[in-house]
Amino acid sequence: MAAAIYLARFHLSVLVADSGESRADLIPLTRNLAGFPDGIAGSDFLARMRGQAKRYGALQWEGKVDSLQGGLGNFLAQAGAEIFQARAVLLATGVFNRRPNMPSNIHAEALSRGLLRYCPICDGYEVTDTMVAVIGTGDHGTNEAEFLRSYTADVTLIAPTGNHELDEVQRTRLDSGAIEAVDGPCLDFELMQHGVAITTPAGRRSFATVYAALGSDVRSELATAAGAEVSRDRCPVVDSHQRTSVAGLYAAGDVVRGLDQLSHAIGQGGVAAVAIRNDLARLAPLRR
Ligand SMILES: Cc1cc2nc3c(=O)[nH]c(=O)nc-3n(C[C@H](O)[C@H](O)[C@H](O)COP(=O)(O)OP(=O)(O)OC[C@H]3O[C@@H](n4cnc5c(N)ncnc54)[C@H](O)[C@@H]3O)c2cc1C
Repeated sequence: MAAAIYLARFHLSVLVADSGESRADLIPLTRNLAGFPDGIAGSDFLARMRGQAKRYGALQWEGKVDSLQGGLGNFLAQAGAEIFQARAVLLATGVFNRRPNMPSNIHAEALSRGLLRYCPICDGYEVTDTMVAVIGTGDHGTNEAEFLRSYTADVTLIAPTGNHELDEVQRTRLDSGAIEAVDGPCLDFELMQHGVAITTPAGRRSFATVYAALGSDVRSELATAAGAEVSRDRCPVVDSHQRTSVAGLYAAGDVVRGLDQLSHAIGQGGVAAVAIRNDLARLAPLRR
């Protein structure tokens, strides 16, 4: 949306195709976004950006783009029966967080009440000095539990599906932070008035907040379909102007390797928009 605002204000015609599965939409209240000292709900923030883009003429289309091909000056994107043509394409398709094994209605309620969280960088501050469970194991789980240990002394790492997969170094790191490792699987999650109760084979324990540290899947299928180079973790490889290896194809936000944060996505969107504008101007002068 940030790129769409820039591009529309460059007097370029812009279409934002969006399948409506933004991670930002899941944020109950972000408090680390500069300029919003009282916080803002992710859905409200998205609505503001959509309105801003619309004001300058960016078109918005709801749906999923299934395939993408072409190059600078001539891309074709297929979305069901629709075919969109564009001279340049920015992929800001994000990532999908793997979820703990809980019914989707409980997942939605836990997220909206801030009982389930996915991003300690974003909201670790909110769990300061409370009882926190991290669902995860291995390096990822250990890293996240250790990160949260700088907010609270009460961190428990619970394996999601079975016994923990922790090597000696990871166990030592957990021990040195007094982080308890509890084997899974997580058999049940119960939302309470002020927390979440998790049942494992070892019994039922209550926590103020649960963090999921289960990794994420990068939504880079369209980049791959268009022939762009992706890294081992499937992120499109970009230069310092967000250009992928395919001329005219750009990528920004969570889908690109980096800090998965709103401010970073917005910054990269701005950088990409300027690169798109200048690359198109080299293709054919932009004139009123
Ligand atoms: C619970 C939670 C809390 C968070 N809290 C914060 C916070 O407090 N502060 C902060 O800075 N960050 C926070 N984040 C991270 C933040 O949400 C992301 O960094 C940000 O949304 C990334 O923006 P993006 O545009 O790259 O991806 P997204 O916002 O995920 O948007 C990607 C969009 O691409 C669309 N899309 C994907 N594939 C297709 C396709 N094939 N066709 C059409 N559309 C497609 C999706 O529908 C989606 O709308 C949080 C994330 C979560 C999950």
